[in-house]
Amino acid sequence: MKAKKKFGQNFLVDRYFISQIIKEINPKIGDNILEIGPGKGAITDPILKKINHISVVEIDPDMIKILKNKISPINISILAEDILNMNNEFFEKFNKIIGNLPYYIATEIILKLTKIYSSSSELYFMVQKEVAERITAKPSNKSFGRLSVILQYYFDTELLFELPPVAFSPQPKITSAFIRLIRKTRVSSKVIDKDSFEQIIKIAFSQKRKTIKNNFKNILFDKDFLNLEISPTTRAETLTIEQFIRLENYVTQNNINFNC
Ligand code: SAM
Repeated sequence: MKAKKKFGQNFLVDRYFISQIIKEINPKIGDNILEIGPGKGAITDPILKKINHISVVEIDPDMIKILKNKISPINISILAEDILNMNNEFFEKFNKIIGNLPYYIATEIILKLTKIYSSSSELYFMVQKEVAERITAKPSNKSFGRLSVILQYYFDTELLFELPPVAFSPQPKITSAFIRLIRKTRVSSKVIDKDSFEQIIKIAFSQKRKTIKNNFKNILFDKDFLNLEISPTTRAETLTIEQFIRLENYVTQNNINFNC
């Protein structure tokens, strides 16, 4: 059967990398695992050698047919759905969410998962290498941007290893990377209003080469930067996650209007 481009189908075929993925996910009895986009079961099958049951969400009826032929219904719960249509509560019961993600919606899926609050959740995903670099970049790195700040507020993020195109069939044009995101348990320095946080990050990075004073023109003034103990001449790409939290707390607590 031909792989469907519109569903981002690049199937994992390299046994070595599949075993590395399973090693990182480390399926254990008691784990409640959700796989996004199981395809023909390249990761699903070896996981079921370690635990008795897995839940999967797959959009393509042809893939579902293949899975149903291979795996007993006792061992798998298959949801024939678009992952982006699943409501937040659905994800809460899983302690591990994994997948070789369809790259066309990979960031959208991961951003959706920031809204899920089960404290023990571990995420293991295959994404484009460039996306992995943005998700894991530290301040001052060229890949550090909006995605880095939002995701690193919620998760400890790590790029585990890269995979060449030959690990997949059909081969994608880009290099891939396998990443881990572990939800942070925050005790101090929390964002007050998550929507404002996202909006502030967007403004801060609106013109990457400009200073934050410039990007927050008519919103924050010299006295505000003094109160924040952040230099107005720095660029967003050098600010730490803690400084972004401080920015949001300050804007929210002082009712500063930034929708201009
Ligand atoms: N896990 C398999 C593997 O590694 O060989 C397949 C990975 S392939 C990159 C992505 C999978 O996600 C495909 O099976 C595709 O049909 C499925 N998919 C694409 N869009 C989806 C969506 N919106 N919701 C759920 N599954 C989706």
